[in-house]
Amino acid sequence: MRITAIEATPVAVPFRADEVWAFGRRRGLVCVLVEVRTDEGVTGIGEAAAYPSADVVLAALRALEPLVVGEDPTGIERITKRVEVVGTWHHMRNTSPALAAVDMACWDIVAKICGQPLVTLFGGRFRDTVDFFHYVSGAGPAEAAEQAREGAERGFGTFYLKVGSPRIADDVERVAAVRSGAGPDARIRVDANEAWSPAAAIRAIRAMQPHGLELAEQPVSGRNLAEMAYVRGRVDTPLLANEASWTRFDQLEVVRHGAADAVSVDNQMDGGLLNLKRSAGICEAAGLPVVKHSLGELGVAMAAALHVMAATPNFIHANQCYASLLADDVITEPHVYDRGRLPVPDGPGLGVTLDRDKVARYAEAYAKDPDAHAFHDEDALTAPPSLPRL
Ligand SMILES: [Mg+2]
Repeated sequence: MRITAIEATPVAVPFRADEVWAFGRRRGLVCVLVEVRTDEGVTGIGEAAAYPSADVVLAALRALEPLVVGEDPTGIERITKRVEVVGTWHHMRNTSPALAAVDMACWDIVAKICGQPLVTLFGGRFRDTVDFFHYVSGAGPAEAAEQAREGAERGFGTFYLKVGSPRIADDVERVAAVRSGAGPDARIRVDANEAWSPAAAIRAIRAMQPHGLELAEQPVSGRNLAEMAYVRGRVDTPLLANEASWTRFDQLEVVRHGAADAVSVDNQMDGGLLNLKRSAGICEAAGLPVVKHSLGELGVAMAAALHVMAATPNFIHANQCYASLLADDVITEPHVYDRGRLPVPDGPGLGVTLDRDKVARYAEAYAKDPDAHAFHDEDALTAPPSLPRL
């Protein structure tokens, strides 16, 4: 079997409410859907996060084409090494989502050929359902409390909010609001996205601890692991690495520095599902749990990750997702959360099918105004960049 073509379709799916974080807000999610075609009529589907933009992903996919077309889609390790060595793609990260989408589509093909759900090929079902958090994106305390209440009513057990605003007291107030909305047993996770200096991180986390924190995600720069280890030694809340742990190579460094209690892993940033499994393995060997990070995904990428998470023991905390934000999807049977958990698809391959009408609708939405769903914040554009906060 040989790969004959890679087809890419950027789509823009709206959010129910804007996603707000330290660096701006966005109205919807742009992703690039990928179809890998073969000479035997089997087609695999994949999805790339539009990181850093859909244009970059589309250009990376065009650059991948001569390295991938003509290859056997079942030779995924060979394809990945071919891209890295023959294609001299030594500097991954910005090009990783494109490679991850091709990897995903190839796994879809392999599992379809085997007539098995992908989970079987990645180690089998360690668990039947996977836990996800409820993303509280509201800017103010009242909005945050209301969104947390909605998530609790839907049965989610873990709540995630961005922190790192100019005043620590404002963040503490929002954490308290989420606690009031989510209830006393809820797990609350805060993510500063590197916004704090070590001193600010220690002060902020200690101020939030009375409200009960499950994890504090990337409180300080992910590029200075000694700082993370310093903070980790001075707060009671476990730290979750994210910007420090984009790839398997980074995760090894996080482990070596003792910089975190849990580690984010992401097949989009690490160039494929096999690397997601490898990353989890590195952390498991160090006795650390992992959390699936999300740059935002639609139903295809979610299905792919579900298979790997279900087959990998140390995904024990709630994983990231955009369930609370997305207004729609591009697959015929969208994932339905039951008390914050998703079942692993049963069908062969990824077990999902593209809804052609929706793909066409959201491809048109992207084509009409490609920038409409990007992060935007007029204030942030004109204000001086002033991180980290002291
Ligand atoms: Mg994060």
